[in-house]
Amino acid sequence: MAETTVSNEHAVASGSSASPEVLTNFVGGRWVESKARETLDVHNPARGEVIARTPLSTAEDVATAVAAAKKAFPAWRDTPPVVRARAMFQFKQILEEHFEEIARIVTTEHGKTLDESRGSVRRGIECVEVACGAPSLLMGYGLENIAAGIDCNVIRQPLGVVAAIAPFNFPAMVPLWFLPFAVATGNTLLVKPSEQVPLSQRRIFQLLEKCDFPPGVLNLVNGSREVVEAICDHPDIRAVSFVGSTPVARAVYQRATHAGKRVQALGGAKNFIVVMPDADWDRSIGAITESFYGCAGERCLAGSVLVPVGEAHEAARERLVASVKALKVGDGMEPGVSMGPLISGKHREKVAGYIEKGVHEGAKLLVDGRGLKIPERERGFFLGPTIFDDVSASMAIGREEIFGPVASITPVKSLTQAIDVMQAHPNANATSIFTSSGKAAREFARLGTASMVGVNIGVAAPMAQFPFGGAKDSFFGDLKVHGRDAFEFYTDKKVVISRWF
Ligand code: NAD
Repeated sequence: MAETTVSNEHAVASGSSASPEVLTNFVGGRWVESKARETLDVHNPARGEVIARTPLSTAEDVATAVAAAKKAFPAWRDTPPVVRARAMFQFKQILEEHFEEIARIVTTEHGKTLDESRGSVRRGIECVEVACGAPSLLMGYGLENIAAGIDCNVIRQPLGVVAAIAPFNFPAMVPLWFLPFAVATGNTLLVKPSEQVPLSQRRIFQLLEKCDFPPGVLNLVNGSREVVEAICDHPDIRAVSFVGSTPVARAVYQRATHAGKRVQALGGAKNFIVVMPDADWDRSIGAITESFYGCAGERCLAGSVLVPVGEAHEAARERLVASVKALKVGDGMEPGVSMGPLISGKHREKVAGYIEKGVHEGAKLLVDGRGLKIPERERGFFLGPTIFDDVSASMAIGREEIFGPVASITPVKSLTQAIDVMQAHPNANATSIFTSSGKAAREFARLGTASMVGVNIGVAAPMAQFPFGGAKDSFFGDLKVHGRDAFEFYTDKKVVISRWF
């Protein structure tokens, strides 16, 4: 590739002077140089150091990868599902063998704690496990004698070349929401990781090379907007899975459906955590704190607004403030650390900007995470846990996705009012209620707008057997991610009506 390097728009510190490696793409079974003329610096967010460079690949790179995937498709489609599943079992095994190594790469490039990284790699492996069941889950159905001597059978067939585009916050896991299902069903795939965290996928593709996936079945193209737009437009790509912020999810959905593709686009979130006066605080506060501050709030299922009902307000305020004081912020690689840095200097500035706006708009700042310095990690992108009280839905912090360790407390008088607050918001990804009342929990689950509901659970993350995805502006499409929906999304149903003379 040509040697022009752009400065990293995501970083404040520019990092070490050693020349970090420019990553390659994986196309047609080989590691190849991108045609990119620009690269983006990848940081270790705890240290603020540059650890690699992502090539911002071009539409030409996408076309080459699509050509390889298209060439591989007929043979892969015709490979018996049990044989495809065997390759998937190999993949599961090799991920287990390299589990700790992948988790460490996730922490190195993203910053979350090692335990959080381990949890995310485990969730990715669970998707592989479910996809190993493809020979059963791909089965169709039929009916003998729909008319005299005529039978009707439904068979499921793969679509062709499909693509998956990922965000920065789960570098190993999110691509694994798609890859196992897409490939086990007989499609060939192009993955575009987030340009901010490309290293976990690079390692996973190195491991995939050792499994029995023929060249061209799996392809990796690094880059950013140009790659995404080329994927949306390419006539030989049949389906696109996207995860990221709402504006980009909406744009990808519109552009790719306009080009005739099947699309599932998961967007941003503003998640409401409702606490009833009868909540069991001792058993709930840990889960609530984890919901707001786990992964430094960079989680699409993270709590964003704490909604105490009636007299729960005072306890909510006191318990949360006491709980965050016990959090240890630091390098996610260090034992005992409960919260790592944010992804970049730029993102830290954005989150700090929200804190500034919250103060300006009249919310009560109970805990301020700005200005936090971690010894020996002075260049890391750290921001401490922050809490606002008396936040209204009209304030920026009550309305917009912050994607950082900032909790907004919005007290309400009744459960009905709590549900109204949620229903009025354009996002509807996940929500939770903490209560001892089955009636309140039932009402909440029934009327809440979010598609993933936790009852006395802080992070309502469906397991790989179940559909994952939100509603309203948090999800554009029909079929959700993983579980049975994935088998629907990645296959077409063909109906064969036969009569034999
Ligand atoms: P992002 O939207 O900035 O980027 C996501 C992907 O889109 C990346 O691969 C990026 O290269 C690409 N991209 C960015 N801008 C683009 C543009 N203008 N045109 C085309 N492509 C573009 O998101 P992010 O900052 O990487 O991730 C955080 C967001 O993802 C948050 O909003 C979070 O809620 C969301 N998210 C949602 C879920 C979910 O399940 N709904 C899961 C994880 C993350």
